Amino acid sequence: MVPGPLMIADQAAVESMILITLENFPSHAIPGNRFWDAGKPLLIVGMAGIVVVFDFDKTIIDCDSDNWVVDELGATELFNQLLPTMPWNSLMDKMMRVLHSQGKTIEDIAECLKRAPLHPRIIPAIKSAHALGCDLRIVSDANLFFIETILKHHGIMGYFSEINTNPSFIDEEGRLRILPYHDITSSPHECILCPPNMCKGLVIERIQNSASAEEKKRFIYLGDGKGDFCPSLKLGEADFVMPRKNFPVWELICSNPMLIKAEINEWSDGEELERVLLHLINKISIKENNSIDSSQLISVDCKFQIIPISTLEAFPQALSVPQVLPVGQ
Ligand SMILES: [Mg+2]
Ligand SMILES: [Zn+2]
Repeated sequence: MVPGPLMIADQAAVESMILITLENFPSHAIPGNRFWDAGKPLLIVGMAGIVVVFDFDKTIIDCDSDNWVVDELGATELFNQLLPTMPWNSLMDKMMRVLHSQGKTIEDIAECLKRAPLHPRIIPAIKSAHALGCDLRIVSDANLFFIETILKHHGIMGYFSEINTNPSFIDEEGRLRILPYHDITSSPHECILCPPNMCKGLVIERIQNSASAEEKKRFIYLGDGKGDFCPSLKLGEADFVMPRKNFPVWELICSNPMLIKAEINEWSDGEELERVLLHLINKISIKENNSIDSSQLISVDCKFQIIPISTLEAFPQALSVPQVLPVGQ
């Protein structure tokens, strides 16, 4: 099925796209063209139908949020002592109790999370992928409070349609409670690859099954950890996995390449993540646009200019601009 045209009328999205285009694809920017005026509605063809799934720790942020909070609030030694005695997820809940008993408030934890390191190209990458019509989701073994606090602090919460992670809440004493994603006692998952509290592969299967057969979604999955291997195995031949180079999931994928159906594209830092991700979105979009016949484009009731696909494909090394058509003059 050919994806329908997608209207981007949001000023922030338009500006972010223009910024990214000017920075990354300067040879395709046409100075003086009305298309480049910020705030003008733009029409982008064929970008919908891509689901980008991000791991959070060491993928969106450049550290592990659990370790970050424990280290910053001075509880590393106790954490390391207790780790061999209980699952990570239960230990984090316990660490929140210990920190609370030491007088650390939820505000102290939030302030600490706001300082978590994030590569400067991650936010532009997220904004561009969203502006290009991708459905962005998070699948993480951190917890909802940590993730929401960081995303809201950086103003990027609204770019994600879904956050799948361990639930958390603040109890009547003001202590942060962290619970497992799966109910360990009543309905344990049977995956041998994943920790008892969360199987990310089951989350991916649920997202895959929620789309009907007609609106076949293409997946791009980004992650770094051991827990990202199981979801990578669930991806199909038309999907892409982006493992972080020299991190556990990359090593697992490299030692078991035959088990992976998806195309493998590694990245090592935020800059490379942005470049590879936008390249893949662009590649999928060009392929899908090839199946759109010109009568469909001309049926749009406005004046516009089409960048011929052949021009884009003449630059295999560089990332090319997706087809962007101005609406109205
Ligand atoms: Mg991670
Ligand atoms: Zn699993």
